[in-house]
Amino acid sequence: MIYPWQTDDWNRLQQLRAHWPHALLLHGQAGIGKLRFAQHLAQGLLCESALPNGEPCGKCAACNWFSQGNHPDYRIVLPEALAAEAGFVNAAGDEKAEKADKADADDGGKKTRTPSKEIKIEQVRALLDFCGVGSHRGGMRVVVLYPAEALNVAAANALLKTLEEPPAGVVFLMVSARIDRLLPTIISRCRQWPMTTPSPEAATAWLAAQGIDDALGLLAEVGGAPLTALALASDESRPLRDWTLKQLAAGPDCDAFACGETLQKLPVPLVLGWLQRWMYDLLAQATAGTPRYFPAAASALARCASLADAHAFARFMRTVTRQRAVENHPLNARLVFEELFLGYRDLFV
Ligand SMILES: [Zn+2]
Repeated sequence: MIYPWQTDDWNRLQQLRAHWPHALLLHGQAGIGKLRFAQHLAQGLLCESALPNGEPCGKCAACNWFSQGNHPDYRIVLPEALAAEAGFVNAAGDEKAEKADKADADDGGKKTRTPSKEIKIEQVRALLDFCGVGSHRGGMRVVVLYPAEALNVAAANALLKTLEEPPAGVVFLMVSARIDRLLPTIISRCRQWPMTTPSPEAATAWLAAQGIDDALGLLAEVGGAPLTALALASDESRPLRDWTLKQLAAGPDCDAFACGETLQKLPVPLVLGWLQRWMYDLLAQATAGTPRYFPAAASALARCASLADAHAFARFMRTVTRQRAVENHPLNARLVFEELFLGYRDLFV
């Protein structure tokens, strides 16, 4: 099923059915459900008794294969890291990854291999083999590629030729939240389709239906993307995030050593993200009078903003940004946090 705010996109897209583009680039903000839309669209294209509005019937052999993840005329291409996380895997890839992990583990019991965040050329080559073979069911063959910005340069170039001269009956559904990171040559070979971002009302209503209180606060924090808001609501680190926001709200009374102690087990990028958004809001509060990410903390932000000047905030924000540039390096998280939170407290002294 698609999300309620996607109905209009769905209906308008069906008007392309008579001349379906061989490559469609579905793009838009992260966290609005583009992948699910693309998958549903793929199922609709493969369904052998689709409804007049293009909806898959959900009952035919094609729909059954699709929902079990083994339709012979369908491929989804994801970076390894995402495939592992989302539990989508094609059996062969899975086995290979497992073997590699095992080999790494045998090698002195060190950390297992980090799954790639890129779509690699081997994946595109396998895809081209799939495109080269005829359709198993006599209909279209459909490829979902997500996210398109994860294609590394070699992979993108390998794909380009196929996009230029697409095999008959093959449809590419490329999905991207960062169209600015795609090669212009890739973009120009696709029909671009900007996906609708839900209105705050639609997003709030949907979140409420998922049993989420404080939908508005969550949405503000994630820039209006409902799926990101939902993930945040069930995020295990949320109690610690709330604790951290209280420390930040304390301004001059922020306990930097407690922050180092309490947060040291969390990933550095996660904590830096909170700090960065808080600083953004302090600056926004000091200059425009309205926070963007933490509207629920508006009064604490206003109080902190009145205790120091905006230039100091801007300088400290640059420090945080510099730290973000090296956040994936092995660092002593406790020391990093202590130093940053000390710097934060000093803004008010
Ligand atoms: Zn069907």
